[in-house]
Amino acid sequence: MNREAIRKLRKLLGPDSVREAPEDLVLASYDGTDLSGVPAVVVRPETTEEVSRTLKFACEHAIPVTPRGAASGLTGGSVPSPGGISLDFERMNRIISISREDAVAVAQPGILVGDLQRELAGRGLFYPPDPSSASFSTLGGNVAECAGGLRALKYGVTRDYVLAIEAVLADGTVIHTGSAAHKSVAGYDLTRLLVGSEGTLAVFTEITVRLLPLPQEVVLVVAYFDSTEAGAGAAVALLREGFFPRAVEFMDELTMSSVLSSSDAQAPRGTRSCVLVETDGPEGCAVREAREMAAFLERGSALETRLASDPREREVLWDIRRQISPAIHNISEVKLSEDVCVPRSKIVELLRRLREIAQRHGVRIASYGHIGDGNLHVNILDEKSPDPREKLAGVVSDIFGATLELGGTISGEHGIGLTKRDYLDREAGPAELALMKKIKGVFDPTGILNPGKIFKK
Ligand SMILES: Cc1cc2nc3c(=O)[nH]c(=O)nc-3n(C[C@H](O)[C@H](O)[C@H](O)COP(=O)(O)OP(=O)(O)OC[C@H]3O[C@@H](n4cnc5c(N)ncnc54)[C@H](O)[C@@H]3O)c2cc1C
Repeated sequence: MNREAIRKLRKLLGPDSVREAPEDLVLASYDGTDLSGVPAVVVRPETTEEVSRTLKFACEHAIPVTPRGAASGLTGGSVPSPGGISLDFERMNRIISISREDAVAVAQPGILVGDLQRELAGRGLFYPPDPSSASFSTLGGNVAECAGGLRALKYGVTRDYVLAIEAVLADGTVIHTGSAAHKSVAGYDLTRLLVGSEGTLAVFTEITVRLLPLPQEVVLVVAYFDSTEAGAGAAVALLREGFFPRAVEFMDELTMSSVLSSSDAQAPRGTRSCVLVETDGPEGCAVREAREMAAFLERGSALETRLASDPREREVLWDIRRQISPAIHNISEVKLSEDVCVPRSKIVELLRRLREIAQRHGVRIASYGHIGDGNLHVNILDEKSPDPREKLAGVVSDIFGATLELGGTISGEHGIGLTKRDYLDREAGPAELALMKKIKGVFDPTGILNPGKIFKK
């Protein structure tokens, strides 16, 4: 993007919406990965009209545009194309309406999911999708990645709550998909197509989500085990038994030891893995189910279980889970994170194969995550090297190979972005990939929307 184009864009949007100070460009250049790309400008729209004008201009001048939420993405999705526009939604962060009667909320994409959840909870309403990043990731980013999270087991993922989207196409056209009605089968489901499209098909400017009543009671059970296999096996057995908690989270041996060594988290002697099970429901029911689950786990191989229903007590126990990412960073200079997902019955076998892969390649692998969904965050740990992604490509390839052999997917919730685009053809066949690329071409014929993401160049 040259000086003349920047001058014209500034004239079109006003000086406040277009930034090009070096510090703004550097701040816009990264996301939650180690990747970066410096844009020519950061555009910070306040209205749908400004987004539309920006995209029309970018389309006419063939300038790449990368939508940006809070940049917590873990696959490089909001890393800008160098020299393009970073379209930052920080200023479009309002809740537009909440209807108790219709059980819907309408919000702008830049609102933090945690802020939306808190506002709704104050009115007895519940927006269930709950990525661990809820307090710092945006609704727009969650919709673009189809974020999952802790409560997906019982309540589903972001896709299951998005009813309607106002979006701007690459040429500036504003479209409205879906409606506030909870059901619709009027034509192709464009809303679902946009959810999880990683900023490559259209840019969201308003999102309508479905709500539920806030559960009356929430109870957490933490169970400690003496091995990775015992913990994972118990989590699977619990669900096979017919219990239906809202979250089942797991930490393997290396994850647990890094959390215990770098925080003040407490666990019984001999603990090597841990399972957190959270259940909710009407007054009295969740406590009863939690006690039954704790008893079930103790009849099995749990060393000990702890129950918490008081919100503060629960927060203290959930803190163990929140410590994971920094704790793993503490024990390793390099941490490459994948988020594979397999059918639940295959999770113990996946963990066994991960151990083999780690031994074969001489690296350490720490796995944790949403085991109830079969979704593990698999972290490859290694010493510092000039290009860790290149060095560890064989490990990543073997992890994806094992996942696909077990009937799983290379991404349960983080998306493909830049980091997994070279592997998508291992999962999607040639006909399916060709169809995806045709869809991209229909929405964005000039290829300006988040180019280079999802597909190999
Ligand atoms: C510690 C930590 C924990 C996490 N836990 C989870 C978890 O439990 N579950 C989970 O699913 N993810 C998790 N994530 C990943 C990340 O938070 C999610 O992918 C989240 O949805 C990204 O939101 P964001 O606002 O940061 O978006 P960004 O990272 O800024 O962008 C993500 C993608 O959305 C696109 N985008 C952003 N806004 C728009 C818009 N308005 N219109 C169109 N496209 C847009 C971007 O172009 C990009 O492709 C975690 C990340 C961290 C760092």
